[in-house]
Amino acid sequence: MMSSTDHDKRLHYLDSMGIQVWTRRGQDRDREVSVTEPGGERDNPAATTGQDDIADLNWEALRERVLSCTRCDLHKQRTQVVFGVGSHTAQWLIIGEAPGADEDRQGEPFVGRAGKLLNNMLLAIGLQRAEVYIANIVKCRPPNNREPAPKEAQSCAPYLARQIALIKPKIIIALGRVAAQNLLKTDSPVGSLRGKRFYYEQSDIPIIVTYHPAYLLRSPQEKRKAWQDLLAAQELFSSL
Ligand code: URA
Repeated sequence: MMSSTDHDKRLHYLDSMGIQVWTRRGQDRDREVSVTEPGGERDNPAATTGQDDIADLNWEALRERVLSCTRCDLHKQRTQVVFGVGSHTAQWLIIGEAPGADEDRQGEPFVGRAGKLLNNMLLAIGLQRAEVYIANIVKCRPPNNREPAPKEAQSCAPYLARQIALIKPKIIIALGRVAAQNLLKTDSPVGSLRGKRFYYEQSDIPIIVTYHPAYLLRSPQEKRKAWQDLLAAQELFSSL
């Protein structure tokens, strides 16, 4: 049972997300979680590439490897590699798309405007940024904030796979289309992936898909749906 202080805090963070409190009425009725079999959408989800020994690296060696990575051309224009941030024993893993200008400058994911919204989204379900782990599909900024190319995402995939193996999260939140499509090996749009439960590769780690905070900044009317996704994730997490 939530205390009145927790309730007040939640209202405050919902307000920070730009969600009016009265909109929560009926959320349970609207929420629908359907379940798919472990393994994701595509027939061959294990099709990540060029692993060499990345799957054996510990945190320190992995970080060193990623910071000196030249596997794709994105390394040529980066200021800093954005490895990922948070607890190595996090139960929640949050995965975005790629670093933007602020992240490239600071070497940390989600530190710009979208990052502030993400922090509020997490707080709204009682999570401090420091207790989750936050990473991206690609670790170097694509020029002009373009979307990462499939080859770039593929080059980076073994690094994220190793991070996931080391963290062993209980739940993964995929933020936006690029994260969702790469993790689930699907071309389906985010709208059709929301409200369903998938699993990471052959594991029993559930993946919940929601909108990217940068998209929510452009389309604030969708924040209510993101809130429903977070509540569904929270409920699922509690049942694990
Ligand atoms: N958008 C992302 O997907 N990741 C970041 O780290 C920042 C913005």
